[in-house]
Amino acid sequence: MKWTPEQWNDWKWHMRHRVTSEEALREFLDPTSSETSAIEGTKEVFQWSITPYYASLIDPDNPLCPIRRQVVPHMEELAPDVIGLEDPLEEVAHSPVKNLIHNYPDRVAFCVTSQCAIYCRYCLRKRMVGEAEFMMRKGELRDAIAYIAAHPEIRDVLLTGGDPLTLGDANIDWLLTELRAIPHVDIIRIGTRMPVKLPQRITPELCEVLSKHHPIWLNTHFNHPKELTEEAGVAIDRLLRAGVPVGNQTVLLKGINDSVETMKELCQKLVRMRIRPYYLYQAQLIEGTAHFRTPIEVGMHIMEQLQGHLTGFAIPRYILDTPYGKVPMTRDYVLGRNEEGVVVRSTRGDVWMELNDAPDPSECPVVLPKL
Ligand SMILES: *Cc1c(COP(=O)(O)O)cnc(C)c1O
Ligand code: SF4
Repeated sequence: MKWTPEQWNDWKWHMRHRVTSEEALREFLDPTSSETSAIEGTKEVFQWSITPYYASLIDPDNPLCPIRRQVVPHMEELAPDVIGLEDPLEEVAHSPVKNLIHNYPDRVAFCVTSQCAIYCRYCLRKRMVGEAEFMMRKGELRDAIAYIAAHPEIRDVLLTGGDPLTLGDANIDWLLTELRAIPHVDIIRIGTRMPVKLPQRITPELCEVLSKHHPIWLNTHFNHPKELTEEAGVAIDRLLRAGVPVGNQTVLLKGINDSVETMKELCQKLVRMRIRPYYLYQAQLIEGTAHFRTPIEVGMHIMEQLQGHLTGFAIPRYILDTPYGKVPMTRDYVLGRNEEGVVVRSTRGDVWMELNDAPDPSECPVVLPKL
């Protein structure tokens, strides 16, 4: 594939030229046999596409490249997975109207679209992203907005998806205008992976739209230091200049960022770009993602090694999400381990067991009480 600098800087060009076939992928790397079989084999299971920008970050000589593993299908996705679920957080059960998850009294997650620019192979919302039935028509968006307007306890609206910034500027402007017209909505935040997979999407025009509706906060999703490119830096700088604070949510992924060194480098590079590390998530038990899961003790070990070795605000909080809300993975909330998994206490007082493999004791000095 050839492109001009003008095309490279145009997010719509990247969207139109996304890699969605083995042939197109071959322009960037030689797929392994597992990858070529998985491109076919996962077709019915989960959408696949990669922006040329993100594909260009892949190391073509390394099948274990952390960028590649996030986005190129692999046969491990089709391996038997006894503990994986379609919707482990029971998000559908917590949705009073389509695509609006109301699981905390004061805030909602509003999935305004099911589309993404790329489809991360470990995605929490694999059940819905890329799926036509979860697209939102204007009337459905209005229904969700009406629900928020009718619930004065909601003061924080998180626009998520899919990726809200796959919508065009005019639609984003319309959504933000509608939400801002609701007096009890205090903060609006956007959860987007665009600064990572397509930083060209963060145009001056988009920033202009966002800055009309403050306070707007934005959380993005860098997983690896290699993703913090010059292009990403330009996108983040534009957002910050438009007055939008930028935070980061990382997912702890085996072989991608599950080491103290990688996590430390990621956090250091994030704050260098003035991005505040917000959450480090334990990977959810999503069907077909067993190869990305790490023991909770490994995450706790990483966190304990960051503490004291990094600027306070460069350290994220390590979180396990459960149907009872997010639980900080610290010794206050993690009660211990039995043969099947890790038992935690939620902030609401519920006891929850997360099915999870025990770490190899030689790999991890954190040992939890036996239950
Ligand atoms: C994570 C999440 C939020 C936001 O939670 P914060 O801890 O405030 O960032 C809101 N709603 C749902 C359903 C969530 O999963
Ligand atoms: S960008 Fe987010 S919602 Fe979209 S596929 Fe990746 S993790 Fe899932």
